[in-house]
Amino acid sequence: REDVSETRVVLTAERKQRRLIAVGSGKGGVGKSTLTANLAVALAKLGHKVGLVDADVYGPSQPVIFGNQGQKPVARDEKLVPVDSDIGIPVLSMGHLVEPGRALAWRGPMAGNALSQLIDAHWDDVDTLLVDLPPGTGDVQLTMLQRFKPMGAVLVSTPQDLALIDAARAGQLFDQAGVPIIGLVENMAGYACPHCGEMSDPFGKGGVETAAQRLDLPFLGRIPLDLAIREGSDKGTLPAAGDDLLAQPFHDIAAKIHS
Ligand code: ADP
Repeated sequence: REDVSETRVVLTAERKQRRLIAVGSGKGGVGKSTLTANLAVALAKLGHKVGLVDADVYGPSQPVIFGNQGQKPVARDEKLVPVDSDIGIPVLSMGHLVEPGRALAWRGPMAGNALSQLIDAHWDDVDTLLVDLPPGTGDVQLTMLQRFKPMGAVLVSTPQDLALIDAARAGQLFDQAGVPIIGLVENMAGYACPHCGEMSDPFGKGGVETAAQRLDLPFLGRIPLDLAIREGSDKGTLPAAGDDLLAQPFHDIAAKIHS
């Protein structure tokens, strides 16, 4: 009995030192996974020991982004050991646990238990654990937020009206779970024509910043729509690993989260 309570004390202490940050969105396809992966890299550059949990049951994409798909995490003492990636960020994803496409049919409790395994893993010296949440505002998200109480959440949206409405709804979910929102990020904001360089705004412009003001939430920054971001995600080279113009917005957002 004494042993068990001691373990519990250690676990609580471990959890306290580790910051859990959730990254959410009102709907899919707005760049939540892309942002989470690049923020992980940018926060690591700021000196944090970062780990990433891909909790997106409906479309786990982090194994592809980090180029460690096909690897199966091993278990030690009944807990999973995160999978390493070339870029130095340990990752655990639903995609590491099930065959692609299988998780889609999961119901809330099953997904919730799988999530617990990913978060309650051997994260060892990781001090900042980013959690790429499934999009939307369902049971899985609420359970995860209530069970693990992240210290905060970053919400990402495109400037499009519909995505914004969904993002506001997601904001309410975080409120309901008592998880403070660190801020909003606008993704796919502004597109530079690769031929003439002229800027256009396929999904509108500034909508997320306006929404942040209206909701009285911090605005963390905007990331342009850029082919190199998409290509990087597909072949495991993350823009935030560099220090060029494309990396800058990710570094700026990471610096705000860091402070
Ligand atoms: P979500 O996690 O919200 O479903 P993803 O991060 O998987 O969205 O992004 C959806 C698709 O859009 C991916 O192919 C990704 O590479 C691409 N993408 C995301 N953000 C950008 C961006 N700023 N510029 C170009 N492509 C992007």
